Amino acid sequence: MPMNTQGRPTRMADNIATGGYAETTSGSKGLEQAEPLIYERGSAEQTGVDLPEPKCTPNRLGGLARQSELGLPGLSEPETMRHYVRLSRKNYAIDLGLYPLGSCTMKHNPRLNEKMARLPGFADVHPMQPASTVQGAYQVIGELAHWLMTLTGMPGVAMSPKAGAHGEFCGMMAIRAKLDADGQTHRRRVLVPESAHGTNPATAVQCGFTVDEIPADDTGRVDMEAFKAKLGDDVAGIMLTNPNTCGLFERDIREIADLIHEAGGYFYCDGANFNAIVGRVRPGDLGVDAMHINLHKTFSTPHGGGGPGSGPTVLSEALAPHAPVPYVVQNGNDWELVEHEADAAGEPFGRMAAFHGQMGMFTRALTYMMSHGSDGLKQVAEDAVLNANYIQARLKHVMTPAFDGVCMHEALFDDRFLEGTGVTTLDFAKAMIDEGYHPMTMYFPLVVHGAMLIEPTETESKSGLDRFIDVLEALSLAAKAGEKERFQAAPVHAPTKRLDETRAARQPVLRWTPSTDDELQAAE
Ligand SMILES: *Cc1c(COP(=O)(O)O)cnc(C)c1O
Repeated sequence: MPMNTQGRPTRMADNIATGGYAETTSGSKGLEQAEPLIYERGSAEQTGVDLPEPKCTPNRLGGLARQSELGLPGLSEPETMRHYVRLSRKNYAIDLGLYPLGSCTMKHNPRLNEKMARLPGFADVHPMQPASTVQGAYQVIGELAHWLMTLTGMPGVAMSPKAGAHGEFCGMMAIRAKLDADGQTHRRRVLVPESAHGTNPATAVQCGFTVDEIPADDTGRVDMEAFKAKLGDDVAGIMLTNPNTCGLFERDIREIADLIHEAGGYFYCDGANFNAIVGRVRPGDLGVDAMHINLHKTFSTPHGGGGPGSGPTVLSEALAPHAPVPYVVQNGNDWELVEHEADAAGEPFGRMAAFHGQMGMFTRALTYMMSHGSDGLKQVAEDAVLNANYIQARLKHVMTPAFDGVCMHEALFDDRFLEGTGVTTLDFAKAMIDEGYHPMTMYFPLVVHGAMLIEPTETESKSGLDRFIDVLEALSLAAKAGEKERFQAAPVHAPTKRLDETRAARQPVLRWTPSTDDELQAAE
């Protein structure tokens, strides 16, 4: 099979030869257009723009002017449009179908949010504008901060973190600053349950702590005896998710909070799963000291594919004085921005971002809250939990729930139902692609063998859930009926078929290089 140095066919003819597409001359299949990389499509010699040579602009680059061509592919506007539209049609999207990725909360993004975020007064503001010209934007930040504190029952919030993991970093830096301010610099051990999201231990290490893992008990929750045994005067705190990543409520959370406080540590709660409890439980009442909120999950701002996130972090009375700059404050009728540590009322641990955060996400999240109201937000949590339990209840006769009893907003299955079928969790997920569904989160959390974590979210209708459940049920029965080959070949209906995932992980090719003449000839 002729391939270039990157191990991939670079031209349509190659795609046909490799079976990458159905047997058509063009490589396209009906509405699905074959499309090469943009570097293969355009060339550096072409350009889609026609700008006059700049006049009278002296070169002020000194000796730093680029010596060689940049080598960017040039395409005309219509060619560029087609390229990206063709690629977009190969993508799965929340606006296309149910997106059951556990721990990600891929729910519908209301269009009202988009409309508000695009108002020129929000969309076109510049962070360097004088404060007097962006009072409305500051007010949005201030009001959103107010509602985040109200919903969580916490007295402080840092708005600038730009993702969940960034918010974790903020909370753990605040804990570290508080410990240091109190002369507790020997407290550097952070307890993290083994089911935790990978960002938790990574954050702790990044903030200069060591990680000590707490095992789960056989109900999938923190093993309390193991937890108590790990408490000591070098403990800085615990990082815990509730509901946890097994989709279960940590029932002992109050006792965990009390014990960590008695031991002189702080309670960091990973709030990524807040949509399961929003409007029903205030984490502040549970004894939480710091918690990030993923606006892009709980409050429905679009995410995925590296898109923008926003991770405001609520803080307890002990930690709030260490919140990072900048932040907005209301002064009479005016909104002001506290930019510098020297002007802050407390002792900020520093700064996390150049400016004050993700304005577009703030506007969307506030719109979401306002349009739901307090009754609507409560219903978000109720429906999220109901939908996950509906899936679990309707599938437990063919798939194997990892734990007994009701779940929160995610249904977790393990691979016991596939035992002896020759079908793996990965094969099962690939078969879902052929059925038109994005697979659930697979092999996470790590504490469950062959895990399949399904988060339907509250925005799916019953008929949408039924359709999805029917597909999973049929696939489970097909696996048990011995249709192993179908699973191992899947996906056969996707633009790209089964990939060598091990090779992709072990030998990633992250840089495009032009094919050599030899390779092109070999491909002819
Ligand atoms: C998504 C998630 C995170 C990280 O959030 P990002 O915005 O992706 O950085 C952390 N913890 C849990 C439990 C999550 O689901």
